[in-house]
Amino acid sequence: MNTDRSQALLERASKLIPGGVNSPVRAFRSVGGTPRFMERGQGCRMSDADGNSYIDYIGSWGPLILGHRFPPVMEAIAAVLESGTSFGAPTEREIELVEEIRAAVPSMEMVRLVNSGTEATMSALRVARGFTGRTLTVKFEGCYHGHVDSLLVKAGSGMATLGIADTAGVPEAIAKTTLALPYNSVSALEAAFEAHGGDIAAVIVEPVVGNMGCVPPLPGYHEALRALCTRYGALLIFDEVMTGFRVSFGGAQELYGIKPDLSTFGKVIGGGLPIAAYGGRADVMNKVAPVGNVYQAGTLSGNPLAVAAGLAMLRYLKAHPAVYSQIGHAAARICAAAPQGVTVNRVGSMFTFFFGTGPVTDWESAKIADTGRFKAFFHHMLDRGVYLPPSQFEAAFVGAAHDDAAVEETIAAIKSFQG
Ligand SMILES: *Cc1c(COP(=O)(O)O)cnc(C)c1O
Repeated sequence: MNTDRSQALLERASKLIPGGVNSPVRAFRSVGGTPRFMERGQGCRMSDADGNSYIDYIGSWGPLILGHRFPPVMEAIAAVLESGTSFGAPTEREIELVEEIRAAVPSMEMVRLVNSGTEATMSALRVARGFTGRTLTVKFEGCYHGHVDSLLVKAGSGMATLGIADTAGVPEAIAKTTLALPYNSVSALEAAFEAHGGDIAAVIVEPVVGNMGCVPPLPGYHEALRALCTRYGALLIFDEVMTGFRVSFGGAQELYGIKPDLSTFGKVIGGGLPIAAYGGRADVMNKVAPVGNVYQAGTLSGNPLAVAAGLAMLRYLKAHPAVYSQIGHAAARICAAAPQGVTVNRVGSMFTFFFGTGPVTDWESAKIADTGRFKAFFHHMLDRGVYLPPSQFEAAFVGAAHDDAAVEETIAAIKSFQG
């Protein structure tokens, strides 16, 4: 596979952009080789600057559940272009989008739109602290909630991929406001509440982890989180930036039947444009300015193009609930083809092959995966035109555009792996 042009672009980009990329995992540092500069996407496939084509299992890291250039989304964006790209004033479609979110996710009694998942979790934490008058936050090792200072403690995603335990640039005083506990351990959370109960403002969790690879909650885990938060007066924040409208239309909270106090959304709700949301209990959200005294704002928040794309996406998904069983089934077929010596974790259309044989339930059990073997597998697949996340610690996504031919091609590529 010729990658000369991507290589030349990387060298040019690296002079001006750190690592040549605008988000670290794109640089292929943990798998080596040349990161591919993409040019075009259509359905489940995308092609790079050298003209190589790939079946895409990243889907822009989650948003493209209906594939690239999905017609209703493209049409919605084109229609809005006729009327303007941004006003800095409220528009009717923002209400419509929030109404769709509220109808799908009943815990979202009130919602604020922002531009990225990072902003959503940062803002949700601020309002949780403002509401409770408390300082501490509990998060879980290997979970990633965007690059919010206080949440970059033992974080997943690129931090896990690059082996950065705690980022430079976050003052110790801020890092100390976060307690990082093992995922799926009820006893660790109980102990934290016993020690610090009156100071814990919120527990933030990926209800299905995607950012240390796919790690589902153990049975009863979310029920225990819910009960402990309620008992100690802390807010439970479901970070559904990845799982929202992905693991089911109503997100992980619908799948597991849990009502968090606050939730964050992103990725799928923007249809591939930058938008995210946080929201939840009305009494908590009424703390947000201009109603309350927790300040949060955004020049481009509720951007008309992003809102229109997200609205088209959510309306299509609502009208086509069979999408979820279809993509879950396609993912299951791919997972059934996994090589020997691999632990497969899957929830719906999200999955990870962990190169190792033990169960993977938390960061301790995820991080022992054989990243050398993963790397060989990743390049084996890439050479055969299958684009998986370039990290052992990221989830792959199947979308509605992955047709039988694409799934069969993927399975054949997996089966030819000898490593
Ligand atoms: C992607 C992600 C974020 C961050 O969203 P950005 O839009 O990249 O800032 C936060 N939380 C989770 C669970 C995510 O998967």
